[in-house]
Amino acid sequence: MRTQTNRGLPFARRCDSCDAAVVGTITFIAVDGEHRYAVCLDCATDALTHPARHARLRFTVARTGAVVTRGVIGGAA
Ligand SMILES: [Zn+2]
Repeated sequence: MRTQTNRGLPFARRCDSCDAAVVGTITFIAVDGEHRYAVCLDCATDALTHPARHARLRFTVARTGAVVTRGVIGGAA
């Protein structure tokens, strides 16, 4: 059974930074806890490409469950 390419996610959410469709969740790990944001591909890429200094973050792709980390000891380079 083929999967339609433009089939919407069961939860159609909008990016917290802009108005694009959400592809995953960015988790910023701060001293006061973790802060989660729904993000689109552009914002996720931007956050991963230009991470704030000392920031630790984790990006979880909703569709595949893949996890990308930045600034986390033991995380992906
Ligand atoms: Zn966005």
